[in-house]
Amino acid sequence: MDFASVLARIKEASPKHRLDIGDPDLPPPPEFVEALRRVGDFRYGPAEGLPEFREAVASLFGVEPSEVAAVAGGRHGLAALMWAFRRRRLLTPSPYYPGYFEIAEVFGLRLGLVETDGGWMPSFTERGVYVVNYPNNPTGVVLPRGKVRELVDVAEFVISDEIYRDIVFGEFTSPMELSSSVAVVYSFSKVLSVPGLRVGAVVAPRELIKEVVKFNKATVNVPPTPVQRAIASVADILPRRRAEVSEAYRRRAELAASLLKLEFVRPGGAFYVFPRVGDDVRCFETALATGVSLLPGSLYGDPRHVRLALVEDEERLKEAFTAVNKACGDLR
Ligand code: PMP
Repeated sequence: MDFASVLARIKEASPKHRLDIGDPDLPPPPEFVEALRRVGDFRYGPAEGLPEFREAVASLFGVEPSEVAAVAGGRHGLAALMWAFRRRRLLTPSPYYPGYFEIAEVFGLRLGLVETDGGWMPSFTERGVYVVNYPNNPTGVVLPRGKVRELVDVAEFVISDEIYRDIVFGEFTSPMELSSSVAVVYSFSKVLSVPGLRVGAVVAPRELIKEVVKFNKATVNVPPTPVQRAIASVADILPRRRAEVSEAYRRRAELAASLLKLEFVRPGGAFYVFPRVGDDVRCFETALATGVSLLPGSLYGDPRHVRLALVEDEERLKEAFTAVNKACGDLR
């Protein structure tokens, strides 16, 4: 089943619980919504992003504004970087975020897969440019610092998709802390619950930022300026917001661990669990019949698992987990 037919099936079934796509349910921060309402300047801006936006992101990451480019969402930043490294060997661990393959396909690129173990830990042995994503979609896992060291030691360069970096339940080490041959893709979609606004940033060495700006010029030219302005004006709320969303999603992951009668590796961040069910499409269909949509793991390269996005409140999740236990508990 491909993504389009899975979504068509969900639409047709119209389930009570939508635990399929990763669309955050927590409301956006009111200060941010207010800031967005106040923006009155809708003109073009520089392709690299507004100065105040670059400064705000630079101070969040402890880098210079010249090492930051605005992009139209994390996926746009990923496309810019995969394009910039189009002549190199690109590698990504499995299971993977399907967006990487959609990007690779339009650029005619090959993306090699790196195997992972039972705890979703990859073994980084091959030289190449790695596209990695921690906290991870679909598994929620985070690499321990030693693994991040192994990655930066073997990689020619790392494209680190950190769009869930603000949703962490414990330690998180960005490869950027251990090496300068790293570009981070950041996005406001998940932390602020605003995936429709399409704004994110690439944090990378200056030479690479120039390539990202070239890509911006060839595509959106200017990432949405009203959103950049609003973010820059309330950037100081981010540490608090980070703590709030991390706590809310951590509680939901705990709830999944205590109620789901399916095995899964405990997530260290993000808002997904990726339990083992044996047959992903059967679980998808039976869960749908009991009123819960989830996603077959084959969309992420693993047909033995399914992905649940924890994007409902705890009461609703309890009900959904009971239905999933009934639907998929015996499929293994
Ligand atoms: N990377 C990962 C791992 C994701 O899960 C997503 C969105 N689900 C993205 C990138 C893209 O997010 P956006 O373009 O909204 O920033």
